[in-house]
Amino acid sequence: MFVDSHCHLGSPELAGRIAEIRQAMREARVDRALCICTTLDEFALVHALAVENEGFWCSAGVHPDEEDSREPTVEGLVELTRLDKVVAIGETGLDYYRLAGRDVADMEWQRERFRVHIRAARACRKPLVIHTRSASADTLRLLRDEQGGDAGGVFHCFTETAEVARAALDLGFHISFSGILTFRNAAELREVAAFVPLDRCLIETDSPYLAPMPLRGKVNTPANVPLVAAKLAEIKAVAVEQIAAATAANFERLFLSSVPRDSTNS
Ligand SMILES: [Zn+2]
Ligand SMILES: [Zn+2]
Repeated sequence: MFVDSHCHLGSPELAGRIAEIRQAMREARVDRALCICTTLDEFALVHALAVENEGFWCSAGVHPDEEDSREPTVEGLVELTRLDKVVAIGETGLDYYRLAGRDVADMEWQRERFRVHIRAARACRKPLVIHTRSASADTLRLLRDEQGGDAGGVFHCFTETAEVARAALDLGFHISFSGILTFRNAAELREVAAFVPLDRCLIETDSPYLAPMPLRGKVNTPANVPLVAAKLAEIKAVAVEQIAAATAANFERLFLSSVPRDSTNS
């Protein structure tokens, strides 16, 4: 069985299609998914998805691209993680891709928001789900400054260099690969995937975005995560079943080890 470690089932494209998505997941042997929160206003929706559906969990956090969103506090985030099936802090991190005419120096609001998430993750001992785009040096620097390695977590939808992967691994983080791994122009990323040890790899869809080949451009769902697994299996020259088992075990260790056994199916 496969696990999708990062999807946006609260997105407008997917939120109304949960029954259909779950049926497709069953047919594709995808039994678990982590529903990612991007704003405090969205939290109630992703949390309800996690509570109402076996095999779904959720995170609590505010995405770095959500500039005009309500700002989280350390206490507020910690409070949300006390609720059932909330297993991570994020997604959080830094995104300097769309500066809209500003300078990196102007993005202190993002860095401050990221620090709040790291402090919350350390306080509640939940892993961080990290988004980094065009900002890897600052992302690593803040994680070091704030001892983010104490919380651990995952660099999701990884598109950075092997050097950045090495630094993230050294800090104790996992690396998650998305459908980008299947794209024709992603040869460099496939080399990174070859290098990351299998016991630190996760797989994800980042639904509704980034549908893997041959579905590129379509609306993505967690049912497509086996296509990412198949590509990772090809890169690592192992059976896809081995990728499924290893990434599921990594997911359990990272996100579910602090969850009591009897509540994982609630
Ligand atoms: Zn992201
Ligand atoms: Zn995401």
